[in-house]
Amino acid sequence: MGKFVVPKLGLPNPATLRRYKPGQPALEGPALLGAAPGGRLEKVIEAQLHRADIDVVSTPAGKHAALVFDATGVKDPKQLREVYDFFHPVIRSVGPSGRVVVLGTPPELAEGHERIAQRALEGFVRSVGKELKRGATAQLVYVAEGAEEATESTLRFLLSSKSAFVDAQVIRVGTETKTATAPADWAKPLDGKVALVTGASRGIGAAIAEVLGRDGAHVVALDIPAQGADLSKVANKVGGSALQLDITAADAPEKLAEYLTTRHGGVDIVVHNAGITRDKTLGNMTEGGWDSVIAVNLASQLAVNEKLLADKVLRENGRIIGVSSIAGIAGNVGQTNYATSKAGVIGMVNDGAPKLAEYGGTINAVAPGFIETKMTAAVPLFIREAGRRLSSLGQGGLPVDVAETIAWYANPASAAVNGNVVRVCGQALLGA
Ligand code: NAD
Repeated sequence: MGKFVVPKLGLPNPATLRRYKPGQPALEGPALLGAAPGGRLEKVIEAQLHRADIDVVSTPAGKHAALVFDATGVKDPKQLREVYDFFHPVIRSVGPSGRVVVLGTPPELAEGHERIAQRALEGFVRSVGKELKRGATAQLVYVAEGAEEATESTLRFLLSSKSAFVDAQVIRVGTETKTATAPADWAKPLDGKVALVTGASRGIGAAIAEVLGRDGAHVVALDIPAQGADLSKVANKVGGSALQLDITAADAPEKLAEYLTTRHGGVDIVVHNAGITRDKTLGNMTEGGWDSVIAVNLASQLAVNEKLLADKVLRENGRIIGVSSIAGIAGNVGQTNYATSKAGVIGMVNDGAPKLAEYGGTINAVAPGFIETKMTAAVPLFIREAGRRLSSLGQGGLPVDVAETIAWYANPASAAVNGNVVRVCGQALLGA
């Protein structure tokens, strides 16, 4: 129906986004690398890009698959001119599904004019994201001093087709400066790891199970007993195990801790993906509609985290990953309960980051925008089409886009990526 109506409205066809396939080249063309004078990242990044089999050039080479700029040398607003001087002549040379990445110093770790100039980079990157065409994206990565070597997994992710639907995001690496270990094999970074994925029987959860399994993890796929048949299919497909459990049950944290300890000796990655909606405007919302959403989307996750940390079931260098939503950032009509729970997930990341850092792990979240699933297929046609179109990439994302972002957080080399909430929304205009 949508495919028939949309061309009649005269809307342009969105670009086909390049998505990851094992064995595909890291980039389809050279990456132009530049730096403001005095930058501390250029040399390190050059080595990282070479290791990722990326053809790095320092002078413009016609078409570019990526433009990467080290802006850590920008210490004063006047020096922002360096950013213009680098990008202005080459911005039109970015190819389809191309990448723009600007690297800076976290403003909160700088002072005075440097802090102001570094903060200014956000406006630049978010605007470039809106101007780029043909599926190209722009990101800003703030790298703390001392965390230069810890940026490799983030750069690889952002430059690759795994970040197809991540656009105009601001990512912080190493604000508590941690050492990151590169995986023995970048194609199987999660080898030997155990990953728990809740709500894994379908939709985004099934895609997360598949991607973490592809990356080498043993996946414990969890869902409610009513989803048992679909859950088994997912678990079998990824060579993992199925665990039927309602995560809101009072004894769920205890059962989960026991299962993970006896079967696997612990867990390395916990993905809180299970989520529900019970949409009604506030005046029409029942107590039950409010309570069930907060219970599944937030309260049960806190109870599980607390148990896994208290009993040290989450292993050293462990990862907790939440699934928020752009509704949790922007709010939405009919979703006071859902948006409250999803903003609470952001609170969970903020509160958990220092605790996890002390524990030797990380906590981060993704905030998906419009993702093509059964949930969004049920949205009325015109609202659905608006949801897809009102973004810089002009389309909805796929469950795999959310899954790839989660796999980046889970990578052992992402040990210095803590306390981030990255939107997987194609730069949706909602809550921009
Ligand atoms: P979905 O409804 O297809 O899948 C959610 C899964 O969670 C289901 O399999 C369900 O059985 C399971 N679940 C629900 N309650 C549970 C409980 N008490 N215990 C265990 N499992 C339970 O939804 P989806 O679209 O795949 O969404 C996955 C996550 O992504 C959710 O947290 C959702 O809020 C979030 N999200 C989705 C979108 C989107 O566009 N689809 C956008 C933003 C955020």
